[in-house]
Amino acid sequence: MKEFARTATDGIIYVNGRFFPRDQAAISVFDHGLLHGDGVFDTLMAWKGAIFKLDQHLDRLFRSARAVKIRPPLDKERIRDVITEAIRMARLENVYIKCIMTRGTSPAPYMDLLRSVPSLIVIAVPYPEKANPFVDRPGVRATIASIRRTPDDVFDSRIKSLNYLPFALARLEALEAGYDEALMLDVDGCVCEAPGWNIFVVRGGEVITPGRSILEGITRETVIEICKRLSIPCRIGVITSYDCWVADEAFLTSTVGGLLPLSEVDGRPIGTGEPGPIFRAIRTEFRAMLEGGEHCTKV
Ligand code: PMP
Repeated sequence: MKEFARTATDGIIYVNGRFFPRDQAAISVFDHGLLHGDGVFDTLMAWKGAIFKLDQHLDRLFRSARAVKIRPPLDKERIRDVITEAIRMARLENVYIKCIMTRGTSPAPYMDLLRSVPSLIVIAVPYPEKANPFVDRPGVRATIASIRRTPDDVFDSRIKSLNYLPFALARLEALEAGYDEALMLDVDGCVCEAPGWNIFVVRGGEVITPGRSILEGITRETVIEICKRLSIPCRIGVITSYDCWVADEAFLTSTVGGLLPLSEVDGRPIGTGEPGPIFRAIRTEFRAMLEGGEHCTKV
C-alpha cells in the first residue's frame, strides 16, 4: 500500500474491477483488443479537477460500443464513478483520461466472439504539459499524407475504435518527412481530419470544417458552439487540399491537444504563419469556458 501511494501521482489504471499504479496495470495477451484491435475507446481530460464534457464523452463511448456490439462491463454511472475514483486516487488536477472497452478474452486465443468476456480499462495519468490549454503554442507544419482515411462504407468513422493504424502510418509519414503532423484525405480526395484531430479552415472570415469521414469530435462541437456565441460564421463543408493551401487560418482540435494552429501545409504558409485573429478569439473563449467551469464536472 505504501508503494501504491508513492507511485499514485504517476497515474492510476483501472483494469476489470481493480485499480493499479501505472506501472503495475496489465491485461491478458489474449485480449481481443490486443489481438485484433477489437475494441472502442474515448479520451477525456480534466482540468483543475473538473472533467470537460464528461457526459458527451461517455455517450460517444457507449455509441461506439453499441455500434460494434461490445457489451459494456459497467453502465455509464459506474464508469463515471471509476473515472472519478481513479483521478482521486492519483491525486491529479490536470488529467489525461482514457476509457477502453474491448471484446475481452475468450476461453481460447482464436476469434471466439460469442464467448468472450469484455474488458474495461480506465487510464488516469498526468495531462501532458506541452498541451496545457493556457499556454500559447506556435503553429505546426503539416503535410497531406498519402494514406487515406478508412471510408465510412468500410467502417463508420464515427466509431472510435482501436483501429488507429492508418492514423499512425499517416503521422509516421509526416514525421519522417520532417513535418509535425499529417492531414488526411478521404477516398474522394477531400481533407477530412488529422490523426487524432478534427480540422478547421478560415477563409474570408468564414470558418469551415468537414462533415464527412470524420470522428464527431467533442472539441469540434465546442468550436462550432463558440463560433455561434461569438457570431463568427461557421459551416460544415467540403475542404480540399487547395482550401488548406490558400486558407487565411487553419487549426486542429482535439480533447488532449486542445486548439492547435497550423502554420504551414506542404510548404505553403497559412496566412502570416502566425495564429490568426479568428483562431485567437476562439481560443480565448475556449479558455474562458475551462476557467469558468462551463461543461465541466467537478471530481
Ligand atoms: N478525430 C479522430 C480520429 C480522433 O481520434 C480524435 C480524438 N478523439 C478527434 C478527431 C478529436 O475528437 P475530440 O475533440 O472529441 O477529442
